[in-house]
This record gives sequence, C-alpha cells and structure tokens, in this order.
Amino acid sequence: MKEGIHPEYFQAKVKCNCGNEFVLGSTKEEIRVEVCSKCHPFYTGQQKINDAGGRVEKFNKKYGRK
Ligand SMILES: [Zn+2]
Repeated sequence: MKEGIHPEYFQAKVKCNCGNEFVLGSTKEEIRVEVCSKCHPFYTGQQKINDAGGRVEKFNKKYGRK
C-alpha cells in the first residue's frame, strides 16, 4: 500500500465574509476568505468602473487636467 505519500485532499468548504459558500479542492478542510468571486470588486465589475471613474475625476481636478 502507498498510504501516507500524498497529502489528504478535501473538497474544502470555502466560507466568505459576504455569506457565500462554495466548494474548492484543497488540502484544508475548511477555508475562510474575505472576498470571493461574488463580492470581490473585480468580479462585480460595475461598481469598480463607477468607483474608478470617480477617482479619475478627482485626480484630474487635483492636477488641473481635462
Ligand atoms: Zn464573498
């Protein structure tokens, strides 16, 4: 038997701060994350675009660009 050679592999339950849960292959049984694909600004898209627009506006005002 070749037991003990490979680390145990779980279908880890990932819990996010936003309340979303999903399963991920991992050597850990349970993972806690602060952001996931559901609530991360990168994935929510729209919000980030709006936010970036505001920042660019502020930047342009500060440096007098149009
Ligand atoms: Zn989340």
